Amino acid sequence: MEKEIKSCENCRYFVSYYTKCKTRYYKTFNGYCHENTRKKKPVLCDKWESADILKEERQQSVKKALINMSERLDEIALILKDEE
Ligand SMILES: [Zn+2]
Repeated sequence: MEKEIKSCENCRYFVSYYTKCKTRYYKTFNGYCHENTRKKKPVLCDKWESADILKEERQQSVKKALINMSERLDEIALILKDEE
């Protein structure tokens, strides 16, 4: 397994900047760690945790949201069908 080099750029608390184009947002190479109160580099906060943890949490949250949306759409479809 490759050893991960710690930096706030791969920190759980790193927030990426995005740029808005015509129909979508694009992730830029810039951002900030909201746990890093120091303004100068080297950039590594005291609370560093792998960004992979946040990625997993986000995927679980999106999965739950999609399941909830699916259930709600099924309920709405039933209501509409009953009223036909
Ligand atoms: Zn950090």
